[in-house]
Amino acid sequence: MLTVDQASEQLLAAARRMTETETLALNDALGRVLATDVVSTLAVPGFDNSAMDGYALNVANFVAPTTFHVAQRIAAGETGSALAPGEAARIFTGAPIPSGANAVAMQEDCSVDGNTLTVNGKPFHGQHIRRRGEDVQQDAVVIQAGTRLGAAELGLLAAVGVARVAVVRRLRVALLSTGNELAEPGTPLAPGQIYNSNRYAISALLREAGCIVSDLCIVPDQFAATRDILADAAATHDVVLSTGGVSVGEEDHVKAAVESLGALSLWKIAIKPGKPFACGRIGDADFIGLPGNPVSSFVTFVVFVRPFLAARSGGHAPTPTIGVAAGFAIERAGNRREYLRARLVDGRAVLYPNQSSGVLTSVVWADGLVVVPEGRMVQAGEPVDFIPLAALK
Ligand code: AMP
Ligand code: MG
Repeated sequence: MLTVDQASEQLLAAARRMTETETLALNDALGRVLATDVVSTLAVPGFDNSAMDGYALNVANFVAPTTFHVAQRIAAGETGSALAPGEAARIFTGAPIPSGANAVAMQEDCSVDGNTLTVNGKPFHGQHIRRRGEDVQQDAVVIQAGTRLGAAELGLLAAVGVARVAVVRRLRVALLSTGNELAEPGTPLAPGQIYNSNRYAISALLREAGCIVSDLCIVPDQFAATRDILADAAATHDVVLSTGGVSVGEEDHVKAAVESLGALSLWKIAIKPGKPFACGRIGDADFIGLPGNPVSSFVTFVVFVRPFLAARSGGHAPTPTIGVAAGFAIERAGNRREYLRARLVDGRAVLYPNQSSGVLTSVVWADGLVVVPEGRMVQAGEPVDFIPLAALK
């Protein structure tokens, strides 16, 4: 058996980083991976400006309360002129600090009579001034290649005047659901059939990971059909991902089909849920075979496939983990790393009562996955690692 860490390392090492890029307008680049470092040609702010509505003045020789002559008014978007000694400028948030001024007094600390300003309390040098370049310095790298662009990144790119960005081409992923027992929602169930839930859950996880998904629907448990669909999918996709059929039962044909077309490693990973996991190559496409049980496929996707796809897409997405207190106890150490569906209640992780690998309600109920390392017992109140599901999107 491989440990989770060994399997993760091997998968990441096998991730060939996508090098094809395209250039997109900022608004089209949400969720995409930046292909090259973006260097700012500007300083941001581009000029010293006021952080407050108030009065720009010079604090030299200031003895409170001091009066100034209000000689000008500078709103955001305007530029003022130099202050003469004894003068102040009415100024608004975002307006450039006029030369000769070195502080802004908040209007709440001032009283004004006509053009005569009285300031109560001495402002310090630089007070309420946002300095040129305090956010971004000219020629600084603002966002590094490999970063996935979210709301904050797009905002910052716009702030430095970038309208279009080079991003990595999205991965094309073919998704296959194996199993003669599977029926599609919207069709009636024949005796012995179940609905195909992996197709929807894994497709959603793939799209959240930024992939373009081709849904190849249900593949029957037959060697030839499986092989033919895999061969077609591999010819037109970067990654082929299947669920089910990777155990070594008589009805599991994925292993033999992939081996007939390329190379496959069937890994027994010390993980619960999710032991059978396959990966390999068909032609130039990567192949990943997830277990069929819905919770197993979900968990193995989160633990192995999500970081793999991020690396394959030229980025990185380490699994987010926070420390929480165990709201449960585990009295017998297991030999596999467990990912338990849990909810946070007052900072403590409470487990869903049924942790079976087929119980998808556990994942819906959960806020995240508690990680219990192999060989470890847990006492209530002890710190444990927790993967918040909301942080995976
Ligand atoms: P397998 O790995 O093919 O032996 O499947 C393991 C278990 O997962 C069986 O109970 C299957 O019926 C179930 N399963 C496999 N594929 C799916 C699917 N796409 N949706 C829901 N359950 C599935
Ligand atoms: Mg099956």
